[in-house]
Amino acid sequence: MSSNKEPPKKKIKVNDSPSSPSVSAQSNLKQRLMLDRKETAESILNFKFNKKRVRILSKATEVPSDCKGIAYWMFRDERVQDNWAFLFAQKLALKNKVPLHVCFCLLTKFLDGTIRQFKFLLKGLREVQKECEELNIEFHMLYGSGGDVMPGFVEKNKIGALVIDFMPLRNVMAYADQLKKALPKDVPLCQVDAHNIVPCWEASNKLEYGARTIRPKIHKQLPEYLTQFPPVIKHPYSGPLKAEKVDWDRCEAHLEVDRSVDEVEWAVPGYSGGIATLESFINKRLKFFGTKRNDPTQDALSNISPWLHFGQVSAQRCILVVKALRSKYPESVDGYIEEAIIRRELSDNFCFYNPKYDSIEGTNDWAKKTLNDHKKDKRPYLYTREELRDSKTHDDLWNSAQIQLVKEGKMHGFLRMYWAKKILEWTASPEQGLADAIYLNDRYSLDGRDPSGYVGCMWSVCGIHDQGWGEREVFGKIRYMNYQGCKRKFDISAFVARYGGKVYTKSATMDKFLTKGKKK
Ligand SMILES: Cc1cc2nc3c(=O)[nH]c(=O)nc-3n(C[C@H](O)[C@H](O)[C@H](O)COP(=O)(O)OP(=O)(O)OC[C@H]3O[C@@H](n4cnc5c(N)ncnc54)[C@H](O)[C@@H]3O)c2cc1C
Repeated sequence: MSSNKEPPKKKIKVNDSPSSPSVSAQSNLKQRLMLDRKETAESILNFKFNKKRVRILSKATEVPSDCKGIAYWMFRDERVQDNWAFLFAQKLALKNKVPLHVCFCLLTKFLDGTIRQFKFLLKGLREVQKECEELNIEFHMLYGSGGDVMPGFVEKNKIGALVIDFMPLRNVMAYADQLKKALPKDVPLCQVDAHNIVPCWEASNKLEYGARTIRPKIHKQLPEYLTQFPPVIKHPYSGPLKAEKVDWDRCEAHLEVDRSVDEVEWAVPGYSGGIATLESFINKRLKFFGTKRNDPTQDALSNISPWLHFGQVSAQRCILVVKALRSKYPESVDGYIEEAIIRRELSDNFCFYNPKYDSIEGTNDWAKKTLNDHKKDKRPYLYTREELRDSKTHDDLWNSAQIQLVKEGKMHGFLRMYWAKKILEWTASPEQGLADAIYLNDRYSLDGRDPSGYVGCMWSVCGIHDQGWGEREVFGKIRYMNYQGCKRKFDISAFVARYGGKVYTKSATMDKFLTKGKKK
């Protein structure tokens, strides 16, 4: 889109949900991508796979010659095509002329996720399982953590190499450490970063200060990594080990999660749903992305983060598709590249190199000091986690954003910043504010429990990847946002009308505040 093109005329109507195209009506892109892959190479064997995407975590580096198969433990990147980890596993299996096994290890819970996120995950996996079946690849549903169950699977079935995903969250990294110790000594353990375009360990070898320091490093390496994908092909080798039929009811019964937060309607889980969303983005919303992405009353965002979080769609694929439209919509495409590559990959950098990625201790010294200096400042309002959860604050915009999160499993990106900053302002301490923001985000967001979520909360509450600003109460030098600022940016009343956030006046602290004649 040229930047001076008219903004969308249509304002969001009450009860509109984020754009959700029907999957069947949106099959053009899916078919085109299949052809693109076939044109790129016949298979991964005819493609120059960039070995820098792989880290060998074991001492063993060679696949034993008498092995009976190669296994890929799928965790973060839950898709078949456009997946460098899957492709690498198939490459090893083809080279060694053995069957390929994909394992998913179902946990009973994952951080503060609820049945909402698990249903999204399991429905996406149904598509993976079906595709694997069509490609003569065995898909095994295992129960327990990968760290616990994969060593036994590998040993029992004489697996010659285990390929795993990369995810820089502490608990997931711990599974990789567990595997390093527990796998048979002659079996290579290969970790592939199939989530980032430039592998996290190649993008930078240290904790980056911010977007401005990682941006040139990533852009420099993009020509090397932003390539087309070859296809995962029908696997030519079979063996006696067959996957048990997946009992999807058992999978759901296995979960020990809160079932009161149920799935949302607008987001169709799985690869096809994700590609349909990508297709509707490039056809309808991309043209507005450059100019309207900070306006929550406009339909200008990609809305793809749930599929990216679960790895049901590859970020690299999104970039390839969007970048092809650069001559048509330069501003939007550049904006999308900045968000979906630089900001997203900066989040992985932060979590990978900073194990305290979700705590005040993990922020910069200046931010720790300023938050500490203002720890005792009187908060204008104080809310409990339950009041925040139930959208019961004095702020109709904040309440509406919280309702959007709870109802739709996704809050508009601009409001996420406002939302988290107000939590800092209205809770007893920065520690409490950060914990509440992370809890609510992880519990309700489809894309929660993600490096980008921890970084988003840490940016808002404790200034990571940011600089110091003018000092003020409670925030200290942390960047401030307020209602009036939002009012200047977009039509708050239209957003509030859509979600129905009310002004609550119950809080005693607030009553006191109002009697002093101050306004939000
Ligand atoms: C408090 C707070 C919490 C957040 N929690 C999450 C979360 O749990 N999971 C999550 O994926 N993102 C999170 N973000 C980042 C960002 O808001 C979301 O990625 C974005 O809103 C997703 O919607 P979209 O796909 O429509 O994004 P678009 O605006 O269409 O952007 C395209 C893509 O760029 C990436 N992106 C955009 N903004 C950011 C950003 N600030 N940081 C990192 N990547 C970005 C996402 O992958 C996104 O899909 C959070 C931000 C804040 C301030």
